[in-house]
Amino acid sequence: MIRVEDLVFDYPGFRALDGVSFAVEPHSITALVGPNGAGKTTLLNCMAGLALPAAGRVQLDQIDVHRTPREAHARMGYLSDFFGLYSELSVQRCLDYRARAQGIPSDRRAAAVQRAAERLGLADRLKQRAGELSRGLRQRLAIAQAIVHEPAVILLDEPASGLDPEARFGLAAVLRGLKDEGMTLIVSSHILAELEDYSTHLLVLEQGRILDYHALDGAPAPNAARRFELQLV
Ligand code: ATP
Repeated sequence: MIRVEDLVFDYPGFRALDGVSFAVEPHSITALVGPNGAGKTTLLNCMAGLALPAAGRVQLDQIDVHRTPREAHARMGYLSDFFGLYSELSVQRCLDYRARAQGIPSDRRAAAVQRAAERLGLADRLKQRAGELSRGLRQRLAIAQAIVHEPAVILLDEPASGLDPEARFGLAAVLRGLKDEGMTLIVSSHILAELEDYSTHLLVLEQGRILDYHALDGAPAPNAARRFELQLV
């Protein structure tokens, strides 16, 4: 479904991705982990078509993300690690605004907003202002915005960052639910333990290269993947 081939990305004077290749299976959750500066955000930006690689390509269902970004974006949701919300707008208006931006026709917009809110457990918050929500609920709203057009794939950059343990637990349940409904997720973190309970695949990035990529099958991640966590402590 998603195929990344020989991806190279350069910042001025610095190679951030150095020949990254992998394929993501449909209906999976890939934990994208690696130490600070490994290239996780850069990789997700390239996969979302927001950063143009120096070489290589990203294909989503045979669609080249950089050559035909419109088609790709119709099937893809993306949550940046620095997402912003319109804090003065209600949850409903935020979702409606995003639904419009995604080109959902007016006669289908209310249903799309309701569905996204329900999927993220926000159906009883529709009238509340985004700025009044807790950090965990704001994160959920940001994810609801990213999936309002029902993409097949969602890329999430450090979604658990800044959440308390309870909100992290809730987020894990939400992401697992999206996968069970048929979505394919790629979720980054520099803390492997945050993701390994519910991820189906592990992709370890280090210095712009893939260190490890394999199915987890319910087994704990190998020690090699934990090495960088120890370095962070
Ligand atoms: P983190 O976990 O800290 O968010 P990351 O794995 O997401 O890190 P990236 O943000 O993709 O890593 O950065 C990869 C490398 O590229 C890092 O060494 C970073 O310093 C460098 N980098 C990122 N943005 C720029 C930029 N605009 N100009 C130059 N170098 C950059």
